[in-house]
Amino acid sequence: MHNRSQVQIEHNYIAEPSRPRAHCLFLNSLLPLIFALSFLLAGCSFHETSRDFFAMDTVMHLSASGSHAEQGLDAAEDEINRLDRLFSISNADSDIARLNQSGSTTVSDETLQLLARSKEINSQTGCAFDITVYPVASLWGFYSGNFQVPDQKALSAALSSVGMDHVQVNHSSVTLDSGTQLDLGAIAKGYASNRAAKIIEESGVTSANLSLGGNVHVVGTKPDGSNWKVAITDPNNTDHYAGVLSVQDTAVVTSGGYERFFQADGKTYHHILDPKTGYPADSGLLSVTIVSQDDVLADALSTALFVMGEDRAVDFWRASTANFEMVLITRDGRIRYSEGLESAFSLAADYKAEVIHR
Ligand code: AMP
Ligand code: MG
Repeated sequence: MHNRSQVQIEHNYIAEPSRPRAHCLFLNSLLPLIFALSFLLAGCSFHETSRDFFAMDTVMHLSASGSHAEQGLDAAEDEINRLDRLFSISNADSDIARLNQSGSTTVSDETLQLLARSKEINSQTGCAFDITVYPVASLWGFYSGNFQVPDQKALSAALSSVGMDHVQVNHSSVTLDSGTQLDLGAIAKGYASNRAAKIIEESGVTSANLSLGGNVHVVGTKPDGSNWKVAITDPNNTDHYAGVLSVQDTAVVTSGGYERFFQADGKTYHHILDPKTGYPADSGLLSVTIVSQDDVLADALSTALFVMGEDRAVDFWRASTANFEMVLITRDGRIRYSEGLESAFSLAADYKAEVIHR
């Protein structure tokens, strides 16, 4: 199986603490003092610190600047790991694994909150976003790694357990109909990036770049005050990018079939499933990028609009009162982006795009 992160971030800002320059003899006598001061200031300067770790089934890269960076990154990493333990389908003690295992259990307030949001987005997207796809994803081997194209009979049986009406919530207790299981893989990273960003800001960090696989959240601006640059991968040529978003204080989330897939009998089968057919969504879109200050919405919609396809995605954006913008890349090589990104999106050389108006 292939698993790659679809959004690359430019980390091209190399920060240099300010250095004293002595231009005359008088200044030479002040050099020790200036050196001492520059050492002190270095702690509050642009010095960038970063870390990579594996969580939520993906490689994460977090970077931050300033004197609180180390402490902020520690707290953000702890928070992401805590949420991984809460939502993971593979950690037997997680709320979701316990629920999938027993069919009925009490869960934390945060899990309840994410289930409620998932239900809401499921209904808004005409069930294109559906956290009950687990039995279908399992048949395809996306959890075990034993990939196979399921036979239609098995697929139909699994599909009968898919649908949010198979999930009942009563106070803090959640009950699943027999055969129904949950997978928060299309929304949990959005929740985690939102929490990580909040926590890092509370630590006093004003400039950070959090990349949770394909989920990016940028805090503030780059240390030099310019916007962060988030590149959108060309799905047909994943070593290249199709364009760059210039942004601050926002989430940028991409879903693409090229992120995770396997090949069988000369065909490619990716991990974003159409809950109606049980097959990998074949909507004519190769990737969907959502830009929103609401990380959870961005994550869920990148998946949902990928399933819905170009026309329904455009209709959804036009009709929606939610605050989000999008970039769609189609199988026939077109790039379309919503008008709110007109000043933020720049195409890479040789790429063409069309703006979607309200
Ligand atoms: P994302 O990368 O955010 O688009 O999420 C894709 C992941 O969410 C997959 O690896 C599955 O675990 C799960 N998934 C697949 N299809 C759907 C769907 N239609 N709705 C919700 N979750 C899905
Ligand atoms: Mg998603």
